[in-house]
This record gives sequence, C-alpha cells and structure tokens, in this order.
Amino acid sequence: MPTETTLEYDAVVVGGGPAGATVATLVSLRGHRVLLLEKERFPRYQIGESLLPSTVHGVCQLLGVTEELERAAFTVKRGGTFRWGSNPEPWTFAFAISPKFAGEGATAYQVERMKFDQILLDNARAKGVEVREQCSVLDVVEEDGRVTGVRFADQDGVRHTVLARHVVDASGHKSRIHPKVGGKRVYSEYFRNIALFGYFLGGKRMPPPNQGNILAAAFEAGWFWYIPLTEELTSVGAVLRQEELERVQGDREQALLSLVDECPLIADYLTGARLVDSGPYGEIRVRKDYSYSKESFWRPGMVLVGDAACFIDPVFSSGVHLATYSALMAARSVNTALRDPSAEQAAFEEYEARYRHEYALFHDFLVAFYDMHQDEESYFWKAKRVTHHTATEIEAFVELVGGGASGETALINAGSYIERRDFQELTEIVESPVLAQGEDRNLLQASLARSVVKAGARIQVQAAMGENVDEVLPMREGGLVPSLDGMHWTAPAA
Ligand SMILES: Cc1cc2nc3c(=O)[nH]c(=O)nc-3n(C[C@H](O)[C@H](O)[C@H](O)COP(=O)(O)OP(=O)(O)OC[C@H]3O[C@@H](n4cnc5c(N)ncnc54)[C@H](O)[C@@H]3O)c2cc1C
Repeated sequence: MPTETTLEYDAVVVGGGPAGATVATLVSLRGHRVLLLEKERFPRYQIGESLLPSTVHGVCQLLGVTEELERAAFTVKRGGTFRWGSNPEPWTFAFAISPKFAGEGATAYQVERMKFDQILLDNARAKGVEVREQCSVLDVVEEDGRVTGVRFADQDGVRHTVLARHVVDASGHKSRIHPKVGGKRVYSEYFRNIALFGYFLGGKRMPPPNQGNILAAAFEAGWFWYIPLTEELTSVGAVLRQEELERVQGDREQALLSLVDECPLIADYLTGARLVDSGPYGEIRVRKDYSYSKESFWRPGMVLVGDAACFIDPVFSSGVHLATYSALMAARSVNTALRDPSAEQAAFEEYEARYRHEYALFHDFLVAFYDMHQDEESYFWKAKRVTHHTATEIEAFVELVGGGASGETALINAGSYIERRDFQELTEIVESPVLAQGEDRNLLQASLARSVVKAGARIQVQAAMGENVDEVLPMREGGLVPSLDGMHWTAPAA
C-alpha cells in the first residue's frame, strides 16, 4: 500500500464531534495550525440530542455559532419534566430558576445531531482548521516516551503520517487510540444500562411554555426519554437496567413498542404517533451506555477529550456539555503548552483536574438520583450537597443540571471573554512591529491607534467586565486560572 508524505501541524485532532470541533476551533483561533481527522462523511447520525444552556450560550457563543444555531431553528428547551422518584405526578424545573442562566441564557436546544455537529464542524473550517473527512486514525506515533503524531488512512485507503506537538483524541466512546494514554477505562458500578431508541412522528407535546422540554419518565424496567426534535419528530428511548438485556436481543421494534406500553405516560404521549421506518431515523438502535472514566486523561503529547476520556449516564443530557466543556479546558492547555512548552505538565494537570471534577459532580449526584424512593425535594438537597452551593436547593439542582456548577465564566458569561479576546487581538496587532514604509501598514499599526488602544484597553475591559471569581481563585491548591481572554491557563495573581 502506498504511503503518502508526512504532514506537520501544531495540533492534530482525532474526531469531528462536538468535542473535536470545539477544541480544534479554539486552538486555531490562537493562530496555531490544526488538522482535524474525521472517520465519517458529515452529516452523520449521532445520539445525544438534548443540550444544556452551558453549551448553547457558553461554548457555542465562544465558538461564534450563535447565529447559525438560531438559523437552524432548533426546538427551544426551557427545562425538564420528570416522572421520577416517589412522586407519582410529573414535576418540572426551568433553567430560569438559576440566576446564573438569567435572561436569554435560560434556554437550550433539542438538536438533530446531524445538523448541530455539521454546524460546529463547518465553523471549525471557517476558523482556519484543516478538516479532512473520511480519514480514519489507526494509531499514534511515539518517540522517546512522547506521542508525536498519528497514522491514518484516507478514503482511498492511502496511509499517511501526521506529526504534531499535540494529539487530541476526541474520537468518542469508540476511540481506538485511547489505550495509548495508559491506564484503564474504569466502568461505573452504578450505571450499567442499555438504551434502545427510535423516532416517532406525531407524538404529543407538553403544554406551553414547556413544549420543548425533555420528558423523562421512570417505569418498572428503567426510564424513557422523550425529546421533541421538531413539531413532528420525537426522539424516544428506553434506558434499561442490565438485567433487561434479553429484551433488546430479539425484534427491536417489538421490544420498543412493548416497553412503551409498560410506561403509561409515554404511551399516552405517543397515542396515534407512527414509528419512523426509513432514512437515518428509521433504524431502531441499541447502545450499552455503560458509564466509564479513564485512569489517565493525558500523557506528554496526547490528551483525551469528551467521550474518549469519560462518559456518564444520559439522564441529565450532560454528554455534549462534558464534551464541549472538556474541549474548552483542553484547548487552554494546548494553547498554553504551544506558547510555553515548559508549562505543559501544569497545563494538562489543570485540564484533568477540572474535567474530573465536573464529571464527578454528575456522577455523585446521579447515584442519589437513581434512588427512586426519594422525592424531588430530596434530589434538590443532594444537588446542593454535592456542589457545596450556598443558594437554595432548587437553584443548586438547576445550576448543576444546566451545566453551570463549575462557575466557569466561559459557560455563564461567554460575552466577557469574547470582548476581552477581541481587545487582546487588537492589542497584539498594535504591539506588533511596524513594517517599513511601503510595506503592508494598516491603520491599526499607526502610532496614534497604538497609543490609544494601549492606554484604553485595560481600563475599559476592567470597567466593562469587572473580575470573574474563577480567574482569581484557582479550583484547587496550586492550580491555575484562566487567562484574561479565556484561551490559556495562567498562575493566579499573588
Ligand atoms: C443512549 C444515549 C443517550 C444520550 N443522550 C444525550 C443527550 O440527550 N444529550 C447529550 O448532551 N448527550 C447525550 N448522550 C451523550 C452524547 O452522545 C455524547 O456524550 C457526545 O456525542 C460526545 O461527543 P464527542 O465529541 O466526545 O464524541 P462523538 O460525538 O462520538 O464524536 C466522535 C467522532 O469521532 C469520529 N471517530 C471515531 N473514531 C475515529 C477514528 N479512528 N478516526 C477519526 N475519527 C474517528 C466519529 O466518527 C465521531 O464523529 C447520550 C449518549 C447515549 C449513549
């Protein structure tokens, strides 16, 4: 088989899902050369359709896709409705309960992932990432204990080698290269579920303003999700305990329909609805959504993000939040190490600490949430306990399940980073050496503009934004904090 030439980049990202597209874009935005390799041709099907405010108004705003998401006209989700625990009646929470998600930030979207993931991948391209689809990564390249690149096969089966200072594995739960980071994938004792899911046309909607909410309904064998994707189309899935495995091993359509019959609330919502039987939504799929976490998230030259690092049960729709949050944290680490290689270890330790912490919040809360003998007040109290929140129990719960518990500024006030990033870029242009007469000199490089921006930037930014707590206080002793533009890590001010 012919082997093509060796390519060289600052970073190579494996996988073009939400994690891969996010990390690639945020590294490229700092001017680095990034290659993203994706095995499939987009749009491709993926499960994980219910998003959180932290993704929509936080990371997606940082990436610059707010308008594209609005144009896609995804279903607006204001919160969740649960038939869960000892309360026989459904109960509803709204993101608006938390002051952190006030105003426009109090919503999220239910998305068709084929469309959502395409938007993020196209945006990565538009922001300078070189995206190659139908390229399957086969292995990593190693030298002197460091990962220095990957080998991949393109759509014609031709093999290539890419050398890069950083390899980011964002290839999801099916990652074939995660073992190269070392350590095992450790599976959770609590969440060993099986999901069986399909799509219906014509299902009922909840009364306004909750018609876009996710509905989760517990029943004897497990629980159902019911996600309104469009006015007509609904994603419906049963998450079953491991003991129910046999039920999904025969005819999947029959299995799904008989499970629907066992859950009166979902059966009622699907009265008169029709199972989709063609196209990408025509297949009834099974996923063992066992939860896991890798023992290590990085080693020199390589980092795992999103599902490649860990996955947690889908009841709170946290998958894309964790994927994009970890991608943001990893992008900071890659940017930091590219600027100053001696800072690599501290930067990736910060990444791992923050991703583990966020994952643990969901994991620990979910263990309590699966205790069906409790009512919602008790779940809210548990959320307050795991997050050490000082506000009310319900606020603590909403903040956690909205993806805002980390207090990360980028997730709850992304606008402040965008303005600072713009100022920073402006300042960098102004401070760059002025070229000789006759060469390309733009207005910003003129000395007048330079002095105005220099004097004004810091004062204006501070006056406009104030200080964000997470930029002053590290998450752990000896830890780092985000830089002013949110694109690197830095030591906290003494
Ligand atoms: C039953 C179930 C229900 C869920 N529901 C929700 C939900 O409602 N909301 C939510 O937020 N999350 C949900 N999730 C979780 C969600 O699906 C994932 O967490 C999310 O897709 C992770 O994003 P990612 O970018 O890490 O990985 P992915 O989205 O899996 O993307 C990985 C990409 O890498 C590519 N790839 C794989 N191998 C290679 C290779 N060798 N070379 C190149 N490319 C490769 C793949 O083609 C893919 O495009 C659910 C999960 C399950 C199992």
